[in-house]
Amino acid sequence: MRIIALCLTLAGCLLAAGSHAVQTPADSLADSTATAPNGSAYKKYRLRTVVLDAGHGGKDNGCSGRSHQEADVALAIIKDLGRQIETNMPDVKVIYTRKTDVFIQLDERAAIANRAHADLFISVHCNAGPPGSRGTEVWTMGLHKTTANLGVAQRENSAILFEKDYQRRYNGFDPRSPQSHILFSLFQSAYITNSLRLAQRIDRQFRAGVGRESRGVKQAGFLVLWKSTMPSVLVESGFLTDRREERYLGARAGQQAIAGGIYQAFRAYKKDIEGR
Ligand SMILES: [Zn+2]
Repeated sequence: MRIIALCLTLAGCLLAAGSHAVQTPADSLADSTATAPNGSAYKKYRLRTVVLDAGHGGKDNGCSGRSHQEADVALAIIKDLGRQIETNMPDVKVIYTRKTDVFIQLDERAAIANRAHADLFISVHCNAGPPGSRGTEVWTMGLHKTTANLGVAQRENSAILFEKDYQRRYNGFDPRSPQSHILFSLFQSAYITNSLRLAQRIDRQFRAGVGRESRGVKQAGFLVLWKSTMPSVLVESGFLTDRREERYLGARAGQQAIAGGIYQAFRAYKKDIEGR
């Protein structure tokens, strides 16, 4: 019965989502007028605002290693990334969902990006897994192909259990239910092309630029990406449950390297999408 109710609610949302035209950089995002070679004015897209989201925080520590917690590592990486963008790209406005150790609801993180009419949403996290699990992952919204992929989304989405009225806020979504994930992962198709474009660039940077072991670009239903109305990715920067990766992610040099990889990918994506 609950699943039927959820289906109906989500079907309504899907219809609403379907009413939006599929957007392209040229028609959907910040732009400025420029002059074409033939003298006519045309809109030139500029990526102006990026929202940086450090996962978890406050009463939600995320996953843990021996001595480091996900919320702290994610915040350190996000602040490094923000600093690099602010320093090197003064034309880009950087908005943080949090800059301190505070709890922020998952839907509020997307709402911050939507209110700012951001062009891009980047969420940074750390992973947890059974012994032997290592490597970075870059996620976009979509249907999971394996139960392991579903597991990562379920773990990240269970952050809403810290929210008092999560069942009402998320239309009856149950982070423990595979059916809930299958239904709502059908969202965000309008932004999937550019989300994947950025995700692939980040993954390439992690492999080649930063020299990390990579588990690739993947898709699953993440609540934090669900309601954002712009291209968005979720970065799993490595496993805190792996001793070597925890050491790397806990050190400033490692955090800066991961942030540097995301920054290089962001810079290339911006250039690419602005047609320069
Ligand atoms: Zn997380």
